[in-house]
Amino acid sequence: MHHGEGPTEKCGVVGVALADREAARPLYYSLYALQHRGQDSAGIVTHDGFQQHGHVEMGLVGDAFGPEDLEDLKGSAGIGHVRYPTEGGVNASCAQPFSVSFKSGALGLAHNGNLVNTGELRDELESLGHAFTSDGDTEVIAHDLARNLLDSDLIRAVKRTMGRIHGSYALTVMHDDAVLGVRDPRGNRPLCLGELEDGYVLASESAAIDTLDGELIRDVRPGELVVLESDGSGYDSYRLFEEETSAHCFFEHVYFARPDSVIDDRLVYEARRNLGRALWDESGIDTDVVMPVPDSGRAFASGYADAAGEVDADVEFAEGLMKNRYVGRTFIMPTQDERERAVRLKLNPIRSTVEGRTVTLIDDSIVRGTTSTQLVDLLRDAGAEEVHLRIGAPPIVAPCYMGIDMATREELVAADRSTEEVRAAVGADSLSYLSIDAVADAIGQSRADLCLGCVTGAYPFDVDGEETDREIDRPVTSGGEPADD
Ligand code: 5GP
Ligand code: MG
Repeated sequence: MHHGEGPTEKCGVVGVALADREAARPLYYSLYALQHRGQDSAGIVTHDGFQQHGHVEMGLVGDAFGPEDLEDLKGSAGIGHVRYPTEGGVNASCAQPFSVSFKSGALGLAHNGNLVNTGELRDELESLGHAFTSDGDTEVIAHDLARNLLDSDLIRAVKRTMGRIHGSYALTVMHDDAVLGVRDPRGNRPLCLGELEDGYVLASESAAIDTLDGELIRDVRPGELVVLESDGSGYDSYRLFEEETSAHCFFEHVYFARPDSVIDDRLVYEARRNLGRALWDESGIDTDVVMPVPDSGRAFASGYADAAGEVDADVEFAEGLMKNRYVGRTFIMPTQDERERAVRLKLNPIRSTVEGRTVTLIDDSIVRGTTSTQLVDLLRDAGAEEVHLRIGAPPIVAPCYMGIDMATREELVAADRSTEEVRAAVGADSLSYLSIDAVADAIGQSRADLCLGCVTGAYPFDVDGEETDREIDRPVTSGGEPADD
């Protein structure tokens, strides 16, 4: 990676504190609920009041833990992590939660996001005698926090570390048997708080809370630290940093999050249907059949087809592509050749819905263009008269440094092509993307509060060699003593 900041991580994190029940199972179930956020490795760290227990392994959640592993994870409080595969491929030293023992206790850390000043901090900590086992940013956070915990209480230590780390982070942390949730001052990656019958839970997405039969309380606020009571009886909140604008990742709403999750009070499924309707409003086209790219295009296509149907009652909404559910996400394939094969393996057309017809194919996004190119081709082979492509996001023109490991500029099909040139490259009869304003509108946020780096090339964080889209101060503390709210 050009700025050498270690692997980019787009992951899922969770933390629970329960009254009188082992935390391992609930953590395991919630990692299952977050499996879409990372298939590379899975891990859980618990604390039984005396010592920490951990199990971290490569692979899917279901493969990473056996019954004995869960049995060994003693204690009613813990955190968990699923990790997304990165460009560098499988790397066991980056699997999480990261744990470290030091003078003032045991620390466990699960991180979703990506720091932009890892190198700086690592150099500084190394010169102070800290030794690192991975090139990841999570370990840097852990060491910085461990260091601050030597001479301050937990809240102040977290605040000091937050003042030093820059970039995007949603963290669940264990300090001995205390479970914490922390979100960066611009709230780039999601993190929410929920209540269980006998405790509290922190998770990347509310779908994990649902899985535990819990109630979503709210999103953890940008710059907020939430500390769960170890006995599951409550939580304390400290707003440690406050920025004027947020930088929520719009791509969570478009692609990454589960449709049944609620982010910022909005159901992701509804946001995606809104995006589909907006797509029709902006670039609707006469067609015989509206067809989603499964699964990521479904909600968009249903919103689009609804809006289209209000104008033309004959428009059909059909599943024209059968998905092989046993094939994982195409991005796991490391080479372009494998990615192309994977698309073909994953999707097969249903001829009768396609043959002799004008098809509008709807997907959430175009990244490299592999999926669209292959599918347009597939639909033409299956007899489609015309294939129109409608995309529920703006063109992705720049990389993500904030934790979504999309691709480099050279790999992004829209990085140096006009929409007409992308259309020609993927071979569609027409192509339209959604405007940025429509995206902000559909997900119910102001443009100023979104991270739009991948669609504008200007970032809400200070990334080496890239432009920014706002005043960036290194985080300023909100001042005053930490207060409960
Ligand atoms: P492309 O084939 O153009 O490279 O990627 C577009 C397809 O990949 C879309 O169907 C979209 O749903 C999906 N996609 C977009 N972003 C990501 C990502 O970060 N990871 C994975 N696995 N898929 C993605
Ligand atoms: Mg897709």
